[in-house]
Amino acid sequence: MVIDSHLHLNEEIDGTAVGAADELNRQLVESEIERAIVLHLETQPWSIYEFSEAIAKYPRMRGFININPNQANFKEKLLEGIELLGFIGLKLHPRLQGFNLENKNTIQLVQYAGEIGVPVIIDAFPDGTFLMDGFSPLSYANLAQKCPKTKMVWAHMGGHRVIEFMLLAKRLQNVFFDFSYSLLYFQESSIPQDMVFSMRSMKFDRIFYGSDYPDRTVEKSLKMTLKILRRQKLNESEIDKIMYGNAQKFFLWDKL
Ligand SMILES: [Zn+2]
Repeated sequence: MVIDSHLHLNEEIDGTAVGAADELNRQLVESEIERAIVLHLETQPWSIYEFSEAIAKYPRMRGFININPNQANFKEKLLEGIELLGFIGLKLHPRLQGFNLENKNTIQLVQYAGEIGVPVIIDAFPDGTFLMDGFSPLSYANLAQKCPKTKMVWAHMGGHRVIEFMLLAKRLQNVFFDFSYSLLYFQESSIPQDMVFSMRSMKFDRIFYGSDYPDRTVEKSLKMTLKILRRQKLNESEIDKIMYGNAQKFFLWDKL
């Protein structure tokens, strides 16, 4: 069984959230993905209402709401998303949304999420832009330390900085990883070996699979990922933990 903990709706289907959710569901069914965490993005061409309505039809999907901590009423927006719109988590994208992880509002929002029992996924893939903006693993660790009640997922496992992120996560029990995008982006490099080294060092705990669809189809990501994990000599029980078991325990699926 598989849980995909990091997907988005595809804007290219017919431009609507409904059309995108319908296509995503078709792909999830086809690949026998039992559950999928769909991340709303502020930069996409639909509102949180259109997004939440579109995915509510599909029992395989739950959403994370994307909020900018530099906009007014960020706490109210999060509460509305959780209590009224069926979202089960908060998504933050410091690079796309242009905010700093250590600013006062970000800390307040992430602390608040912890107070109301809502997990937070934070993009942690250092591309060239993010590196030029001063990307630092330390700012993720500082945020996690200031928000000890908040469970946070560092998405993409820190990209090529994975070993530093793993060392930090070992000191921070509220930190988790998804390994979406990075494993496939760096597939021809030495990074997958470093990622698997880091997973092993964490005993394959606190780490989940994600496809980052629509970067690739759901099926293609799944097949390529399993191939790399087997090439890296993970056994079936290790694969089961990161593809299903860990996420199944983490995401409070039926909370609402
Ligand atoms: Zn993503």
